[in-house]
Amino acid sequence: MKQISILGSTGSIGKQTLAVVEAMPDRFAVVALAAGNNLDELTRQVLRHRPELVSVATAPLATDLATRLRSAGLEKLPEIQHGAPGLTAVATHPAAAVLVSAAVGVVGLEATYAAVKAGKQVALSNKEVLVAAGELVMAAARQANVELLPVDSEHNAIHQCLRAGRHSEVKRLILTASGGPFRKTPLAEMAAATPEQALAHPNWRMGRRITIDSATLVNKGFEVIEAHLLFDMRPDQIDVVIHPQSTVHSMVEYVDGSILAQLGPADMRMPIQYALTYPERAASKDIALDWSKLRRLDFAKVSTRRFPCLRLAREALKKKGAYPCVFNAADEVAVEAFLDRRLPFPGIAEVIERVLARTPRTKIAAIADVLAADAEARRMAREEIAKLPAKAAAV
Ligand code: NDP
Repeated sequence: MKQISILGSTGSIGKQTLAVVEAMPDRFAVVALAAGNNLDELTRQVLRHRPELVSVATAPLATDLATRLRSAGLEKLPEIQHGAPGLTAVATHPAAAVLVSAAVGVVGLEATYAAVKAGKQVALSNKEVLVAAGELVMAAARQANVELLPVDSEHNAIHQCLRAGRHSEVKRLILTASGGPFRKTPLAEMAAATPEQALAHPNWRMGRRITIDSATLVNKGFEVIEAHLLFDMRPDQIDVVIHPQSTVHSMVEYVDGSILAQLGPADMRMPIQYALTYPERAASKDIALDWSKLRRLDFAKVSTRRFPCLRLAREALKKKGAYPCVFNAADEVAVEAFLDRRLPFPGIAEVIERVLARTPRTKIAAIADVLAADAEARRMAREEIAKLPAKAAAV
């Protein structure tokens, strides 16, 4: 029985991880769960999975959770912790064989880093971990001889396709991008896009931040950065192509011209299960691609005019150091402002560009340096947002 701990159990990936665990009760059990504020969902999860350890965002939430579990009739309560130490305790629980890192944002960074250093196998969904602190995390993984198993469908696809050849035989990686809800929207209309329009992703149901990041292609920028780190490929070996059906999850081109692709339904339970059972493959009951509904597979070039954030991500990757972390932090603050209607949609790219331009070159030698760069970038992003008009000018 493989014991699993989850950071972000109440989120989209966390809940789908628990669905995979429930579908394979003879293989997996849950030993520790960490969430933020959603006590309704967490209470249900604790009653169902009976973890030994649980963590929530704050001390009052921990007290509230204990009260709810007692009133639900639970006799033996799990240990309940909170805050950053709670996250780290969940991530490094001694009985956990695998950590599913699926909190959103840099909040999961220190805990995931601690799990890697402790030699835990990590199924990585929380992309900010690699974007913000990729070089430190990868160095720790090499030292602890830990392989990071990507949950993100694109990297998971590449991980699968790379099993067909050697590293030296790879010509390039091709990440597919759906293009999000604004793939064909006239640029003038895109400038006036509302949060509701940006949140209406055509193919995937995900958390709010990643959904907006998919509409700007910031998310694809994160994936270029992650692919560079996870698979040890140069940035110029990583291409992005628009593929509106999200059926080909990504591809690897080998030096002989052969291209291997991984296809599947837009269902995150598939890459989650792959990461949990790797290196084996396990039968799944209800995950299958319906070929009768698949009429065509389209591919197109990415327009950098429409999606400037992809260019900004590549520039941040080229400059390395704190820049990828700053790219992420500025985006997170800008996305919040857009969702609160304090910033127009094109303002997200503008804020990121301005914050990157203001950031001096700094050395990143420890997680504390990452967190300092992150905090400073957030401060600058808030300043830049205050300078920009809340609504897009009429085009
Ligand atoms: P959600 O917003 O759905 O969930 C985020 C999770 O993080 C929730 O469980 C939330 O808890 C938890 N969290 C937030 N703040 C804290 C905190 N301070 N302490 C502890 N936990 C906290 O996000 P997703 O599941 O969509 O995404 C998670 C990560 O996976 C992101 O990095 C995303 O980019 C990545 N990803 C997601 C994909 C998807 O399909 N959803 C695909 C590929 C990658 P609570 O709700 O209780 O506050």
